[in-house]
Amino acid sequence: MSPKEVLAYIRQREVLTVDLRFMDFPGVWQHFAIPSDALTEATFDDGIPFDGSSVLGWRAINEADLLVVPQPETALIDPFAARPTLTMICNIQDPITQQDYTRDPRNIALKADQYLRETGLADECRIAPELEFFVFDRVRFDQTANQAFYHVDSEEGSWNQGRDAVGNLGHKPRSQLGYFPCPPMDSQSDLRTEMAQIMSDCGIGTSAHFHEAATGGQGEIDLLPRPIVEAADHVMLARYIIRNVARQHGKSATFMPKPLYGENGSGLHSHLTFRVDGRSVMAGQGYAGLSELAMHAIGGLIRHAPALCAFGNPTTNSYKRLVEGFEAPTKLAYSRRNRNAIIRVPVHDPGPLGRRIEYRCPDSSANPYLLFAAMLLAAIDGIQTHADPGEPLDRDIYEIGPEELDDVRGTPRSLDAALDALAADHEFLLKGDVFTPDVIDTWIWYKRQHEVEAVRLRPHPFEFALYYDVG
Ligand code: GLN
Ligand code: MG
Ligand code: MG
Ligand code: MG
Repeated sequence: MSPKEVLAYIRQREVLTVDLRFMDFPGVWQHFAIPSDALTEATFDDGIPFDGSSVLGWRAINEADLLVVPQPETALIDPFAARPTLTMICNIQDPITQQDYTRDPRNIALKADQYLRETGLADECRIAPELEFFVFDRVRFDQTANQAFYHVDSEEGSWNQGRDAVGNLGHKPRSQLGYFPCPPMDSQSDLRTEMAQIMSDCGIGTSAHFHEAATGGQGEIDLLPRPIVEAADHVMLARYIIRNVARQHGKSATFMPKPLYGENGSGLHSHLTFRVDGRSVMAGQGYAGLSELAMHAIGGLIRHAPALCAFGNPTTNSYKRLVEGFEAPTKLAYSRRNRNAIIRVPVHDPGPLGRRIEYRCPDSSANPYLLFAAMLLAAIDGIQTHADPGEPLDRDIYEIGPEELDDVRGTPRSLDAALDALAADHEFLLKGDVFTPDVIDTWIWYKRQHEVEAVRLRPHPFEFALYYDVG
C-alpha cells in the first residue's frame, strides 16, 4: 500500500486508532497508538517524535528524541484489537539529521539487503524461518524451588516421566517423542491451525505446522521464504500472533530457547537462498547439488559462526539448547543429513525456494533483523573471500570417535563466549556500514551488563537442590 492507499483504507474500514510498532535493540516489539486523524500523508515522510531514552539499549536521556516513520507497505488491521485498529511497522530516524538511526535493528537489515545488491553477487537473499515455541497452560514459578524444573502444569505435563515411562499416559506424548502423532496426542493442533490461519489473513505464508519433539507443548510453524526485511517483519508478526492466540485460549506461548530441562529446545532454523532473476544461484554440480557460491557462503557461515551466535543465540538460556542429544546443532560443520551440524543441505525438497541451505544454529530468542543481517553478511564474506567450508560431516556425531570429533570446532558454550567471539570477529559485519562499531560495542556491553552478569550474580534455583544441605 502507498501512503494514500493507507489513508483511504483507514476511512473505508472506519479505523479510529493507528498502532505504531518498532523493534527495540534486544528484540522485543514496542508500540504506541495515535488517533487515526493524526496520520497524514506527511507523517510517512516526517515521522512522529517519541522519547527513545527508555527503550532498552537506545539513547541517553540528554539525547533521547527519535522519530518513528511508519512504513505503509506493512499496514494491516490488528486481528486482536477490540476496536478497529491499523498497525504499521516503523523505521527509526534521528530528528536532527533525519538520518536512519544506526541502532534500529530494522535499519540494519535494510542496509544488509542494500549491501547485497551493491556487491552484485545476487539480486536478493530470501529467508524461510521455522518458528519453534512452547505453549504452556501455566508454568508455576516459585522463588526458591523453581517449579519449572520439576513440573509443567500443562495438558501435556508428562515430560518429567522420561522417554521410557511405562503405563498409560492418557494420550500425552512421551518425553522427546512429541513429533508428531495425531490428536488427541497432539492437543494443540487446533490452536496452531488458528495461528496459521490468522497469519495467512495477515499476509504471512506458512508451509506447515506440527507438534515438535518436546512434550510439554512444543509447536512449530514454518514460514515461506521472503526477502530478509520482510522475513524479519513476518517473524515478529508471527510471534505476536502465536502469543495472542495462546493468550486468548488461557495459555501462554514462549520463545525462550530451552524452557524445559531434558527436552528439546526451540530453534529458529533459517533457510537461505541467493537469487538472480528470481532463481536460486545455490544450485550447481558440487556437494549435494550446490554451486560454488553456495559452498563459499557455507564457508563464511561456518567461519563466523561463533560471532553469529552473539545474535542468533543471544540469551544465557540459548546455550542450554546447544547441547548434544536434543537435535540442536553443536558442531561448526555442514551436512546433507547430520542434524548436529549447524548447516544442513535439504536435498530432496528444493520447494518454492529452489536450492537452499538451512542454518540451524539460531534459536527463537533471536532478534530476526540483526540475525538475518548478520547471516547475510557472513555468507557474503564467505563468497567474497572464497571461504573453504571443509569436508561435510556426514556421519552421525554419535558414531564418530571422540578424537575425530574433537577436531570439529563446537558452538560456543555460553553467551559470554559468544560475545568474546563477536568482539574478536566483527569486521565482516562492518562491510557496507551495515553494523557500526557502536552497534557491536553496545550489543556486547548490553548483553554482558544486563544478562550475563545479572544471571551470574543471582543464586540459581538448582543451586538450592545441590547446596542447600551442603557443608
Ligand atoms: N528443536 C530442535 C532445535 O533445537 C530441532 C528439531 C528439529 O526441528 N529437527 O534446533
Ligand atoms: Mg523444522
Ligand atoms: Mg523443528
Ligand atoms: Mg529445520
